[in-house]
Amino acid sequence: MTTDRTIGRVTVLTGAQHGKYPDGNSLLVAGTEETVVIDPSLSLLARRATLPPVDRVVNSHCHEDHVAGNHLFPDASWHLHALDLPGMHSLDGIMRIYGFEGEVDAAFRKVVVDKFHFTPRPDASAYRDGDVFDLGGTRIRVLHAPGHTRGHCVLYVEPEGVLYLGDIDLSSFGPYYGDAWSSLVDFERTLALVRDVEARWYATFHHIGLLDGRAAFLERLDRFAAVIASRESRLLEFLGVPRTMDEVAAHRFVYRPGDPVPYAEPVERRSMGQHVERLVAAGRVREVEPGRYLAA
Ligand SMILES: [Zn+2]
Repeated sequence: MTTDRTIGRVTVLTGAQHGKYPDGNSLLVAGTEETVVIDPSLSLLARRATLPPVDRVVNSHCHEDHVAGNHLFPDASWHLHALDLPGMHSLDGIMRIYGFEGEVDAAFRKVVVDKFHFTPRPDASAYRDGDVFDLGGTRIRVLHAPGHTRGHCVLYVEPEGVLYLGDIDLSSFGPYYGDAWSSLVDFERTLALVRDVEARWYATFHHIGLLDGRAAFLERLDRFAAVIASRESRLLEFLGVPRTMDEVAAHRFVYRPGDPVPYAEPVERRSMGQHVERLVAAGRVREVEPGRYLAA
């Protein structure tokens, strides 16, 4: 049974469990001249025999789940934004994007290879903001939308009017900016940017799949963006007494307490560290003694 959706020359290849991590929803765009697959997910492995020949693989960014099916298309050219390209070149390259250390790095390195089939591609090529892939009868336009990673992009397919949002996934989890190559400030700018993109359809890699129309998109986008403010207000409340970053990371603002996420500690530390930093800069949090923070 398939729940794929087709809009003109675009097909959303719906992933297992509606693209819940570790799976995801990929896009197939079949022009008169070329066929492109966007973010081939783990879910494509089971259906590889039914996939058409593909000329190019276009990745929205370099994360394990978005490149998990790249190796199914060894004869196609692979394309990523210039800033995420080093991640596709080598295993060390993708591990630098996460920036984990010690045992967390060692364990996740294994997951990236064994579970997500990470396949380095030294000749992967760079695209940039504003680039257009013309497939014949349909085009994919690149909009640089950093924050999740440095090179994260959204892809606009026209004339179908499908905006593929990658990991601006509109989920209840909220924006993820917990990697070494993530930025909360950039993510907020990106949320404002995508808000202004007029599209007929909005697609995401996880959960949502395909949204019909701008009203549905804006409602989801506002809820998604509100998670940032919710994390920040919970943080301010927690800093009602002086706390260290160890305590902030252990408290959990991004993941739910008790969720068995092996990399939760560094992700919480990095995500909430960015909140602390800007609250200090704004005078809303003070460092009352070295390494202890208190809401003003
Ligand atoms: Zn991602």
